[in-house]
Amino acid sequence: QPAILWLRRDLRRHDHPALLKAHEDAGSAGVLPLFVIDPVLWKSAGPARRGWLAATLKATNSAYADRLVIRLGDPSVVVPKVARELGAARVHVTRETTPYGARRDARIAAALNDAEVELVETGTPYAVGPGLISNGSGKPYKVFTPFSKAWREHGWPAPAQVDRVRWATADSDGRVDAMLDKAIREAPELPPAGEDAAMQRWHEFLEDIADYGDDRDRPDRDATSRLSPYLKYGVLHPRTLLAEAPKSKRADRYVTELAWREFYADVLHHNPKSAWHDLNPLGIPYDEPDETFEAWKDGRTGFPIVDAGMRQLNETGWMHNRVRMITASFLTKDLHVWWPHGARYFLDRLIDGDIASNNHGWQWVAGTGTDAAPYFRVFNPTTQGEKFDPQGEYVKRWIPELGTDEYPDPIVDHKAEREETLRRYEHRGH
Ligand code: FAD
Repeated sequence: QPAILWLRRDLRRHDHPALLKAHEDAGSAGVLPLFVIDPVLWKSAGPARRGWLAATLKATNSAYADRLVIRLGDPSVVVPKVARELGAARVHVTRETTPYGARRDARIAAALNDAEVELVETGTPYAVGPGLISNGSGKPYKVFTPFSKAWREHGWPAPAQVDRVRWATADSDGRVDAMLDKAIREAPELPPAGEDAAMQRWHEFLEDIADYGDDRDRPDRDATSRLSPYLKYGVLHPRTLLAEAPKSKRADRYVTELAWREFYADVLHHNPKSAWHDLNPLGIPYDEPDETFEAWKDGRTGFPIVDAGMRQLNETGWMHNRVRMITASFLTKDLHVWWPHGARYFLDRLIDGDIASNNHGWQWVAGTGTDAAPYFRVFNPTTQGEKFDPQGEYVKRWIPELGTDEYPDPIVDHKAEREETLRRYEHRGH
């Protein structure tokens, strides 16, 4: 019988355990690759990520010999319907562990089961599946360093290749083509989509990986891999990267960053509520977002490194990690706005927008998250700029009017707001 491969965050052709499993299952009856555009997720992404997903779907279709079937609608209706149309006995997926994805899949597994179709989960978007690493007493890790040590010791399987697959066919939804084209038109300029482009980027980065540890904090240098948008939709599997990263001390820093991605997915798996609620509430009051929040969003705070970051985000859908930390610190500690407001804005704009990495990154900066990120660590946007963008190249790139009358004065006094943050913290719970 034919099998369905329902693709979600695994839009690639190589190193794909669920594809391999579907292929072994269906054999000559063929595998039908299916993507469902879920209106809930589509609407929760801003124009940049919608464009990025659309471009990635087109590239995936080419990699799947133009056989990718794309349907529009609630997956709990669409997937069983396609299974019926095709007469499939099994729907293969990569296991999803985000709160929304896990709930959806449980619902769909039940619906399919009623129709005697099985949902088969193989692999995850991570080197080590969320939930698999635990400490000596069988509990999940709450702090990064011991997690990453256990994660490395756990190890991961080698990449799984499947060369020739026989495809089954079905029609895509007639509305899809126009929808994807529109999304691409409305997006800002995006990186080249697809697995080949991602691999090319990775191999270029490998040539410079030895400098990564020293330069990764410098937004003025193009020193990071910029693979996050590809990892977001599983265009590359982290296992592929881990298999190819050189085993040197210098390259090891890169492995550590991939471990952060895995850690946050694990934290979210164990604490689904931490997506939108404080993992460790501080018990302090926050201010409602007002016009200063709008200035932050638009990159008009009068603090160049903050404004450059927000403009890079608004114009390209990506922001350098160091600047994500600085802009998030500014919103939470200089403007005293609760982190979910900022996290939501980032998720809307980022092409790599990922609920686990984004929302826990925000919680880390806000001091409500994992690790002992002390609340009194308040980034000073001026000294951060001097340290990590010493010639001001990054800020000049994003703020052409810098140094002219057109550029706004600082909207707050950093020293006074820092003291205000510390005051709130000292009086927490009162
Ligand atoms: P590289 O430096 O080349 O790192 C390699 C890979 O490691 C990245 O692609 C990413 O998958 C992973 N990684 C690196 N740093 C982190 C980190 N701190 N946490 C988790 N994974 C990491 N990352 C996202 O993928 N999506 C998000 O929505 C996201 N939102 C963030 C929000 C805030 C407030 C902060 C502080 C960080 C956020 N990050 C997010 C993490 C990090 O900023 C990006 O992963 C990184 O900037 C992507 O660029 P890169 O691929 O060049 O990274």
